[in-house]
Amino acid sequence: KRASGCPQKGLFQPSDSSELVQECLQQFKVTRTQLQQIQASLLDSMEQALTGEASPAPGVRMLPTYVGSTPHGNEQGNFVVLELGASGASLRVLWVTLTGIKGQRVEPKSQEFVIPQEVVLGTGQQLFDFAAHCLFEFLGAHSVGNQGLQLGFSFSFPCHQTGLDRVRWRGNRDSGWRGNAAPMKAFGSVTQLFCPQSTLISWTKGFRCSGVEGQDVVQLLRDAIQRQGAYSIDVVAVVNDTVGTMMGCEPGVGSCEVGLVIDTGTNVCYMEEARHVAMLDEDRGRTCISVEWGSFNDDGALGPVLTTFDHALDHASLNPGAQRFEKMIGGLYLGELVRLVLAHLAQHRVLFGGYTSPALLSQGSILLEHVAEMEDPTTGAARVHTILQELGLSPEASDAELVQRVCAAVCSRAAQLCAAALAAILSRLQRSREQQILQVTVATGGQVLERHPRFRGILQETVKLLASECNVSFIPSVDGGGRGVAMVTAVAARLAAHRRL
Ligand code: BGC
Repeated sequence: KRASGCPQKGLFQPSDSSELVQECLQQFKVTRTQLQQIQASLLDSMEQALTGEASPAPGVRMLPTYVGSTPHGNEQGNFVVLELGASGASLRVLWVTLTGIKGQRVEPKSQEFVIPQEVVLGTGQQLFDFAAHCLFEFLGAHSVGNQGLQLGFSFSFPCHQTGLDRVRWRGNRDSGWRGNAAPMKAFGSVTQLFCPQSTLISWTKGFRCSGVEGQDVVQLLRDAIQRQGAYSIDVVAVVNDTVGTMMGCEPGVGSCEVGLVIDTGTNVCYMEEARHVAMLDEDRGRTCISVEWGSFNDDGALGPVLTTFDHALDHASLNPGAQRFEKMIGGLYLGELVRLVLAHLAQHRVLFGGYTSPALLSQGSILLEHVAEMEDPTTGAARVHTILQELGLSPEASDAELVQRVCAAVCSRAAQLCAAALAAILSRLQRSREQQILQVTVATGGQVLERHPRFRGILQETVKLLASECNVSFIPSVDGGGRGVAMVTAVAARLAAHRRL
């Protein structure tokens, strides 16, 4: 094994360079037929999962969220929102004020905290204690009083929301919220509250805290809040980030029935006809389903687009074999895919004169923001040089250009795959609504869409190609989904209050 930093005498001679480059970049090309196969196969998996008859289980989970309608815009009150898992190893606390007046917005207060790596890979109790600690630090800094605070918990991992079976609550059809309520004691008092429950199915996106899978994360948060004392907080609602994104869509842009997130991970939610969801036993209205498409794993459709670099990334990940679709799209993985290709090309003397560096050979050294900046035409080649130098490399002008081509190949594929998946959702909506021309608004959120200069454009263009019969508007989420979480919390709080009367 050669020492890192020395040019490798590999099989490839310089004359083979362009062939090797072609071979690497070609692996990331996806044909229209392949995209259509992914679209069809994902649609099929979704429909099987809805009927509850899938065997073996298809990759997508189709999890009911018990949100029964999009917001009306008259929700009001002050809410604390705690976001965990949306943007990698960070946590965000927000104080959101809903005025109840359409179009009137109060800027939320918010604070972001970095979760230390030892907590991300530690015990569940450490993670939830850290979350409660950040929550209290935020509340202390913003002097919001310490009684009767209502909290919406945005927990962005696949969860079974339960409790519906124990209390069959149907509520007012206009209320926008059904079920998802189980009686339990409010912490620190004897008041009977109706609290959400949400059982983590599995960690994704590099989290691996022990003792949480299979547990109710709302209870774990409530226990941690209680351990810290000081504040009286009701955890009123638990919401996936896609649902927050969809529900926060500014009123006035028409009904928004899809929430798309491409952040460190990726997922979508949409409003399904409740009668089509076997798990719910409801025959009227619509219900929001969190698709969890990151775990889509149909070998027939995905096999042909998986590259040797995807396999290498998967093998070295914390959850090999899982979330294969997400690992081609999510922001946590795009930089790593770029790094693997660059290291391969350097080791074969096609890049950096055959030199590597310890950073280039270290997992996770290239991040989404590096990729986004290297592709940004406004920052130019100088920025590419700086980033590569920070990685301990000495790039030539031709190296910088090739690095940009690698970034473009990895990110274009990600955007196209995401478009194929979104086209499957649109086909599903069109089929279930029995509409020839579907008119739909998709709320979007996440750093990949916000930071990458070309991702959104490629996504929208490809959706147009694959779902030409749909008229789709894309609207960026408000406050990174925080407002939507507050909306759901407002409705849940109102219903809990009615229930107590
Ligand atoms: C999670 C989803 C989440 C998505 C985007 C995925 O890894 O499984 O629940 O919505 O990331 O944050």
